[in-house]
Amino acid sequence: MHIDTKLIHGGISGDKETGAVSVPVYRTSTFKQTKLGGNPRWEYSRTGNPTRYALETQMADLENGTAGFAFSSGTAAINTILSMYSQGDHIIVGQDLYGGTIRLINQVMKRFGLEFTAVDMQDPDAVENAFRDNTKAIYFETPTNPLLTVADIKKLSEIAKKHGAKTIVDNTFATPYNQNPLDLGADVVIHSATKYLGGHSDVVAGIAVTNDDKIAEQLAFLQNSIGSTLGPDDSWLVQRGIKTLGARMRVHQDNTNAILDFLKNEPKVAKVYYPGDPENPNYEVAKKQMRNFGPMISFELQPGLSPKTFVESLQIITLAESLGGVESLIEVPAVMTHGSVPREERLKDGIADGLIRLSVGIEDKEDLLDDLKQAFGKI
Ligand SMILES: *Cc1c(COP(=O)(O)O)cnc(C)c1O
Repeated sequence: MHIDTKLIHGGISGDKETGAVSVPVYRTSTFKQTKLGGNPRWEYSRTGNPTRYALETQMADLENGTAGFAFSSGTAAINTILSMYSQGDHIIVGQDLYGGTIRLINQVMKRFGLEFTAVDMQDPDAVENAFRDNTKAIYFETPTNPLLTVADIKKLSEIAKKHGAKTIVDNTFATPYNQNPLDLGADVVIHSATKYLGGHSDVVAGIAVTNDDKIAEQLAFLQNSIGSTLGPDDSWLVQRGIKTLGARMRVHQDNTNAILDFLKNEPKVAKVYYPGDPENPNYEVAKKQMRNFGPMISFELQPGLSPKTFVESLQIITLAESLGGVESLIEVPAVMTHGSVPREERLKDGIADGLIRLSVGIEDKEDLLDDLKQAFGKI
């Protein structure tokens, strides 16, 4: 089945009982048991809910895994995955990560005695050198948020395997439409389904998929034990979003290509960050592991130009956190998504004060270009 068909018919779609084409929302906390101690398929909705299960099965299908898990947010998915590890375990993580993930690692997980080393994942030798006897996993995004750097999933998962460690990849930016980390050797793939999977800026959700039976068993246990599961209404919303992922991504991409072209030729732009840009140091890796490069662009204004005036001048493109919705969203990471990362650390990681991140939506291409042009006129 090709991806566009899988998005609509993959996993569990529809309802066997009634023929309903859309998976019903099982808005129930508990299920009647017909006999005592009968080990029923459904017993309590934290443990399992049919609507959530339909989404989990579909995501396992879309990521070519064997088991999927849906959580109340992308952050809850990451928290649950990191909870597979214990005090004294060491995890190598990407230097450039979603700000909330950095906060979770530094301000929560470290308090429980997990050890982390942040490494530039574009450099496989640096990753190799960061391994210790107690290293249990490597964790990274590709492309990263917000610098859109690319890590070689195949190469890094080979290094991890050699050291007996697992590879966990946050695939939020690429989506299963453009990239399948499990096919390249990763063991767990994570999504903030709040972004492209949901696609309409109307739900907060997270997904994890694995093809490793031991990890699947652990995650099922942790999902139920920690309890940050996705409710049936939100599970249904994410499933509805997924059906149009392919159609949306094609328009997103078309708009992105036009905007990239414009930004590359705009003299007020100092630098453009994009995985599909031949100037990206890992362009060849991106070409090899991604089907397309996605609708996220970051760029820096020339020194002295005000990102504040620029983003506040936009009329259609909305100043907001988050990304991946049908509407174009723009933000300044230093102030917004990465505001929780100390400035020194942020600058060291390459996130300048004037960096702007644009999530290209599916509005009319010309309207988006006109909006950018008039905002550049104001600075
Ligand atoms: C948004 C995001 C997250 C966190 O997901 P939430 O659903 O907001 O909890 C994690 N990783 C990346 C790459 C993200 O963009």
